[in-house]
Amino acid sequence: MVQSGNGSIALTLHSTRPERPARVPVKATCPNCGGEITFRWSSAVQTTCPFCRSILVRHDVDLRRVGVVSDLPPSSSAIQLGTEGRYKRTPFIVVGRIIYEYDRGRWNEWHIRLADDSSAWLSDALAEYAVSRQVGRAPDVPNAAKLRVGQSFVFDGTEFSVMTLTTAGYAGVEGELPFEYWDKSKVVFADLESKTERFATIDYSEPEPLVFVGEYQDFDQLELTHLREIEGW
Ligand SMILES: [Zn+2]
Repeated sequence: MVQSGNGSIALTLHSTRPERPARVPVKATCPNCGGEITFRWSSAVQTTCPFCRSILVRHDVDLRRVGVVSDLPPSSSAIQLGTEGRYKRTPFIVVGRIIYEYDRGRWNEWHIRLADDSSAWLSDALAEYAVSRQVGRAPDVPNAAKLRVGQSFVFDGTEFSVMTLTTAGYAGVEGELPFEYWDKSKVVFADLESKTERFATIDYSEPEPLVFVGEYQDFDQLELTHLREIEGW
């Protein structure tokens, strides 16, 4: 291992299949407590240390500590990091989570890594499940202040209408995420529906709005395993 600046430590790669770098399991050492961190998704940009709860951001091969996770709110979800399932027959594993809260409660956005090494989001709100993926840049989306209920947009070939605008608070993070997400406070979301099973979300947490398109899933359809044991189930 190579010690570098800012107390960060270079990642150590352990590979048995160097011809396929995308699937190399990446191990790292927490720059705060020295605990070993194994990435479940090789493209993760941020993770949390399971031992000291430091929030760690990857810069090239270094891990930098940017903060510490405050106590996560109690979870009523059976999903946890490491839960496995299937989306349209493609296996996935849960690698990270963002928790949001708004005036009617909390919901989880579980970051999932699919078998092809792409990633998506499994949302879990009041036992309603959906899988969504970010769509490429959506140039015609106005900023949050100009977005109105009833406006329509075509994303990924489907027409969607804005149904609700929600301001949510960011209540915590856990595990591996595809971007840095540790200094947010309030986030504006627009929920859009279509005439099909598909829905869309516009996320205003970044300067450029992010668009996600997804579909609701039945709990059984997801074939989830490695669930958290919840009393009374
Ligand atoms: Zn640590």
